[in-house]
Amino acid sequence: MSRSVLVTGGSRGIGLAIARELKEAGDDVAVTYRSGEPPEGLLGVQCDITDTAQVDAAFKQVEEEQGQVQVLVANAGITKDQLLALMSEEDFSSVVDTNLTGSFRVAKRAVRGMMRKRTGRIILISSVVGLLGSGGQANYSASKAGLVGFARSLARELGSRNITVNVVAPGFIETDMTAALPEDRQVGIKKNVPLGRFGSADEIAKAVRFLASDDAAYITGAVIPVDGGLGMGH
Ligand code: NDP
Repeated sequence: MSRSVLVTGGSRGIGLAIARELKEAGDDVAVTYRSGEPPEGLLGVQCDITDTAQVDAAFKQVEEEQGQVQVLVANAGITKDQLLALMSEEDFSSVVDTNLTGSFRVAKRAVRGMMRKRTGRIILISSVVGLLGSGGQANYSASKAGLVGFARSLARELGSRNITVNVVAPGFIETDMTAALPEDRQVGIKKNVPLGRFGSADEIAKAVRFLASDDAAYITGAVIPVDGGLGMGH
């Protein structure tokens, strides 16, 4: 039977690949988007995850169109890179507000229905740098490390309701986010990746598909690296 899935930030990049993969697995898939057009073949709901009222409205729309969310993929995220000495408080806060508090907002809204149904899957998209650290990304790394503690706390809170909560930690993946990195930085990163290349969004989507599947029913509180060996399993 098809499940109701919601992927935040599913209009492009990793989120879109995840949404298409779960659709292919037979689920009904909705994605949030902020501007422009939603992707074809998926239910698009307009939502900025920094706004609790918009999150609630998006969930209501998904519930009306495809039923209560059974699988939540919290993928939406941003970077605002800068060395600490030059980083504004606004750039620190807005990255945390999107990446960490945004995941809190959608997870909190999703668990209501999941707890009632006593089943659910929550998958949070973190990053290899959440556990490795990254110069110039103190805001981003802190937000992504925060997701691990958040997920593991939820895994403990919600396990008795048959809700699993896991983290996928991508390494460097070919998307708009990494295309923005200077060429010499990209070459430098690849030298440190045992597999010697950036990953593809589809390679992240496959891991998410597994965590969302029945085969992963006994996995919760895990951090699954998909990073070409960069973090060596952390
Ligand atoms: P992109 O920049 O390509 O896409 C980001 C997505 O997040 C977009 O759909 C964007 O929507 C959405 N988004 C950003 N802010 C908000 C917001 N406030 N409300 C709603 N949606 C928002 O990123 P990637 O696909 O590369 O990354 C996806 C996730 O994977 C992120 O969490 C990122 O941190 C993580 N990641 C990426 C890696 C990489 O190498 N690319 C490595 C490790 C982790 P819109 O189009 O409307 O702006």
